[in-house]
Amino acid sequence: MNTLTQRDSATVWHPYAPMPPAYPTYPVVGANGVYLTLEDGREVIDAMSSWWCMVHGYNHPVMNAAIKAQVDRFSHVMFGGLTHEPAIELCETLLELAPPGFAHVFLADSGSVAVEVALKLARQQAVVLRDDGHLDTTRMTLATIRGGYHGDTWAAMSVCDPEGGMHALYGDALGQQVFLPRPPAAFEDLSEDENALADWAKVVYDTLEATRDRVCGIIVEPVLQGAGGMFIYSPKALRILREAADAFDMVLIVDEIATGFGRTGTWWGSDHAHITPDIMCVGKALTGGYMTQSAVLVTGAIAERIHASPAKVLMHGPTFMANPLACAASLASLSILKEETWIEQVSMIESHLKTGLYPLLNEQPGVEDVRVLGAVGVVELTDPIDVPALTKHTLELGVWVRPFGKLLYTMPPYISTPEHVDQITNAITRAVMEVD
Ligand SMILES: *Cc1c(COP(=O)(O)O)cnc(C)c1O
Repeated sequence: MNTLTQRDSATVWHPYAPMPPAYPTYPVVGANGVYLTLEDGREVIDAMSSWWCMVHGYNHPVMNAAIKAQVDRFSHVMFGGLTHEPAIELCETLLELAPPGFAHVFLADSGSVAVEVALKLARQQAVVLRDDGHLDTTRMTLATIRGGYHGDTWAAMSVCDPEGGMHALYGDALGQQVFLPRPPAAFEDLSEDENALADWAKVVYDTLEATRDRVCGIIVEPVLQGAGGMFIYSPKALRILREAADAFDMVLIVDEIATGFGRTGTWWGSDHAHITPDIMCVGKALTGGYMTQSAVLVTGAIAERIHASPAKVLMHGPTFMANPLACAASLASLSILKEETWIEQVSMIESHLKTGLYPLLNEQPGVEDVRVLGAVGVVELTDPIDVPALTKHTLELGVWVRPFGKLLYTMPPYISTPEHVDQITNAITRAVMEVD
């Protein structure tokens, strides 16, 4: 009998991986709290929160109970023409927790689909019915900043960083969008960077001015760009984008799929800038990492514009939209988040990440930069990481990480103790020093 790893390698295609795979994957046989149990019996801390989402840890009693209770009521019904309390309550709760100004919620089935819906909304609200009866669809282009990541579906991919998203592979088939430069790096202290920010703002305004007849909206990850490079930028830059969107009658879409639900230390990444976007996408931690679900929040003004648009309706409706099990998971996760114990947890994680990772900046050759914001810690190396060697090493130190490119990073579950976070930063530090 072949091992799980052998069977996996023969048949199963993994994310961002060649087929056949370049190196083997690790079977997981159980998970509890912050720990994953590997097939060989090792228990390791999941320093990735399963790609940002498992914020309350595995096998959380409140989460488990909520999903089990919903299974016994009903697991799924179509959402066209039907509705149910878990969906209604979820949408109401999201509006209650979101920045002020939102009025409606569209539930979708993954982050990428939420982005597709947001882009569709931004384009559709810009369609004009001309007097001659034809549709004016000249404003169908999106603007974004370089270094972003918004998902892997076709439209979402078109607004990802052109190099990181490998746009060149697809020739002209991928929608051509307008790419603004990345804002200057920084978060806490921007005083010495005011000039860089002003220069950046000028490029943003000049570019949007020149493209305003075809650009209908701007999409960005607020304050922290995730899979496009784990890059932290100033809330002031986000405010500049909000003002620019208003100045040019463009819609501002904020992709909070990674930053939402407390990860950066505030409920929303947008909160750092005190702005309300026109459209907001959430996902990942929405269900506490239990299943796939996402949501698109829109202002009343956007809904009115869609209603006034020639089609009137939003042409989107996933089969598993508002899946009741996912809604139950999301509601349970939000009920835990509403207690706001995460505020102290994230701030503890942030200070331990800083204490544990900042020394790498001074002492370690091969380290380009160390960045920490909320419960996110990033070590950027000067050279690409040998992922299999590094992973093997951190696993020996009891920690699961999944680096990409030159980036070794962690976003621990909120339930991590100080000792867990220290174990993570120790494993990262040792891996940086010992693996080359
Ligand atoms: C992960 C992510 C997405 C895509 O979400 P999926 O659920 O993987 O489709 C989109 N935007 C951001 C900012 C993300 O981090």
